[in-house]
Amino acid sequence: MGRNRRSITASYEETIAFGKRFARELKPGSIVCLFGDLGAGKTTLIKGIVEGITGLEPCQVTSPTFTYLHVYAEQSSPPVYHFDLYRLNDPEEFLGLGLEEFLFADGICCIEWSEKIHSILPQNCLRLQLNYEGPDSRSITYC
Ligand code: ADP
Ligand code: MG
Repeated sequence: MGRNRRSITASYEETIAFGKRFARELKPGSIVCLFGDLGAGKTTLIKGIVEGITGLEPCQVTSPTFTYLHVYAEQSSPPVYHFDLYRLNDPEEFLGLGLEEFLFADGICCIEWSEKIHSILPQNCLRLQLNYEGPDSRSITYC
């Protein structure tokens, strides 16, 4: 998938399938930042990434809204660290909770609301922008 490629998905299932395909481009240490409003499909796409990497079912993946981090670790695959930072106050809170170590660990990070820690994120993050295009339609832009 080249830079600035834009895809349209026409259902929740298609966004999961997109995430599964996208997971093939990831390796331990990859950091994926997902941008987009509430309901844009960030968590849905991460369900696909987690399934692609670990084999876990999409229903086992839920947003860590109150805890900031869910870890999906299965044998014989790298762990996936799923962050939802919607409720984070600032980067200092993230650092104070000791969460920074996961950004530099041997897993794959998927981060919703990474805007909250922009100042401490490494440069080489992969960035996906999701947008609402209609009730069942979402655009996904790799930027
Ligand atoms: P976010 O994490 O960005 O807030 P979610 O993935 O939690 O978004 O929610 C997306 C919602 O939109 C879900 O209720 C899902 O069923 C619905 N939806 C409808 N069409 C799509 C689509 N094409 N891709 C992803 N989600 C979709
Ligand atoms: Mg979400």
